[in-house]
Amino acid sequence: MNKLTDINYIKSVLSKHGFTFSKALGQNFLVNPSVCPKMAGQCGADDKTGVIEIGPGAGVLTNELAKRSYKVVAVELDKRLLPVLAETLSGYDNVKVINDDALKLDFHKLINDEFPQGDVVICANLPYYITSPILMRLLEERLPVKAITVMVQKEAADRICASPGTRASGAISAAVHYYCEPEMLFRVSPGSFIPAPKVESAVIRLNILKEPPVKVSDEKLFFKVVRASFLQRRKTLSNSLSAGLSMSKAEINTALARAGIPANARAEEMTMQQFSDITASLGCALSGER
Ligand code: SAM
Repeated sequence: MNKLTDINYIKSVLSKHGFTFSKALGQNFLVNPSVCPKMAGQCGADDKTGVIEIGPGAGVLTNELAKRSYKVVAVELDKRLLPVLAETLSGYDNVKVINDDALKLDFHKLINDEFPQGDVVICANLPYYITSPILMRLLEERLPVKAITVMVQKEAADRICASPGTRASGAISAAVHYYCEPEMLFRVSPGSFIPAPKVESAVIRLNILKEPPVKVSDEKLFFKVVRASFLQRRKTLSNSLSAGLSMSKAEINTALARAGIPANARAEEMTMQQFSDITASLGCALSGER
């Protein structure tokens, strides 16, 4: 039996190194032996596809990724876990652990240096406190990766996967659907971790698109529009955009009308195409065209 699927082994290595869990770093480690093989098996890792893992913790998922991929580079912020990982992953010569902050690390350089050829995927049981910033960073930087498979809080997974134009959608749904096709893979119960989180988790895979699903006149403005639209979910699009973009309601209403959108529409009703139309229309208004 592989020792890293044995909760007693994981606990004993952690305690041998005097490790205590940090809530601030989102440290909930997987101990359910069926979750990591399932996650690693669905992330696209194989003998021609390298993997970047964010937050290896004690190395339980890393272990499964290393079995499937020719190379795994794992980025861990917490220095205290380096000796733990050196011990738990000592049987592998295809794993490299980097002590760095995934929010600051230059991923383009990492991919150029560590995976000069072949496909790359990202796989991570994310520290939940950085779910949105890390996902947005990975997507906005247009990294040359095929897919991003992550475990996140179930509620965040629902929001991320929700199609724009549906009730459950939010700013992150529109941003995510611009870069990829998200897929809900499976749920994970709180009892699968030590310590157990309060909420359920889910594993999702973001399949990176070659082209965005809609043409956008100005990407920066598009994301500004999306963010502003959802700033005040309960208000109308007209009110939210006026407040979020510091424009008068009259200007916003003219732009919405030109895009064929009623002033009392709500952000959650907008499809990707409609966000793109609003962006084009507002772009004209901002550049002085009427
Ligand atoms: N992969 C392990 C598992 O599934 O058991 C641990 C997952 S735990 C939810 C999140 C991990 O991310 C922890 O090891 C934590 O120290 C690490 N982490 C937190 N913030 C980080 C950051 N900014 N950059 C890299 N790793 C980070």
